[in-house]
Amino acid sequence: RPRALSGIQPTSGSFHLGNYLGAIRQYVALQETHDAFYMVVDLHAITMPQDPKDLRANTRLSAAQLLAAGLDPERCTLFIQSHVPEHAQLGWVMNCITGFGEASRMTQFKDKSAKGGVNNATVGLFTYPILQVADILLYQANAVPVGEDQRQHIELTRDLAERFNQRFGPTFTLPAAHIVKEVAKIYDLQDPASKMSKSASSPKGLINLLDEPKVTEKKIKSAVTDTEAEIRFDTAEKPGVSNLLTIYSTLTGESIPALEASYEGKGYGALKTDLAAVMVDFVTPFRQRTQEYLDDPETLDSILAKGAEKARAVAAETLAQAYDRLGFLPAK
Ligand code: ATP
Ligand code: MG
Repeated sequence: RPRALSGIQPTSGSFHLGNYLGAIRQYVALQETHDAFYMVVDLHAITMPQDPKDLRANTRLSAAQLLAAGLDPERCTLFIQSHVPEHAQLGWVMNCITGFGEASRMTQFKDKSAKGGVNNATVGLFTYPILQVADILLYQANAVPVGEDQRQHIELTRDLAERFNQRFGPTFTLPAAHIVKEVAKIYDLQDPASKMSKSASSPKGLINLLDEPKVTEKKIKSAVTDTEAEIRFDTAEKPGVSNLLTIYSTLTGESIPALEASYEGKGYGALKTDLAAVMVDFVTPFRQRTQEYLDDPETLDSILAKGAEKARAVAAETLAQAYDRLGFLPAK
């Protein structure tokens, strides 16, 4: 079986609709075809300031949400990144074969550091794509399910894997991004030019899966559209409406042309009312399942402990091989 690997940050408690449609749905699907490893990336979370108490709670909450979304510990390996020390260890090695200029070209750093000014950003934020390279290479992953914003980092992963393999001998599998075009970038409901994001979106435009259903409904009903009245998929002219159609279509399985046809002659209000109902039907059981996992911390801990053990077995083998190739003297 080919391998899949991906990670998600525990930065804000609730996952949002972009995380779910762009990434988590693909995690669930790839369990069936791949030897899949999924992790909550707490090492990545601390590239931005985190309150320790919140970080701990949000890490559990993230694992609970992944299980609620359909990850099955019998069919995939679910773990917490910091439980597998090999990530930080191989991350250092990867730092040492990355060019400073090469790292400087990562647009995620430019975007994320723009807000507070580049001089206030941490070095960790600057090098996080390189830690991500290590995350992927440790598992010899073939497929990396992610949203569009991560494409550049997967390219970097391929470049560094190739560089290491050339300098030190074949060690790492070259991975490919697994990006589903239709849902690769879900937009902020208030700002349909920007990606829906845990850290960047306005709360009004961010559909959190754990919001109260009433809040979800209100956010959908106040989504920005345009001054026409026609419901038509056109990302250039009608980004807001197109975003709503993408969400609707993915959650229900109805095609976009079918939706366009069924809303012919109807206004945006009708589309929003129906989409709000679809969303509430989706998030209500999701919230319940998440709560069930939170209410049973022993089960959750045991899933994560088993996951870490399985992950470590793979990661340790890859790290040992990389250390050997580098010429590190083995510890006796
Ligand atoms: P942050 O803004 O703090 O980086 P985030 O919303 O981007 O948070 P991450 O944990 O960084 O969330 O990303 C988890 C996964 O979700 C990644 O694979 C990412 O590509 C995907 N993703 C994030 N936002 C979207 C979106 N708006 N549309 C589609 N996929 C997304
Ligand atoms: Mg992100």
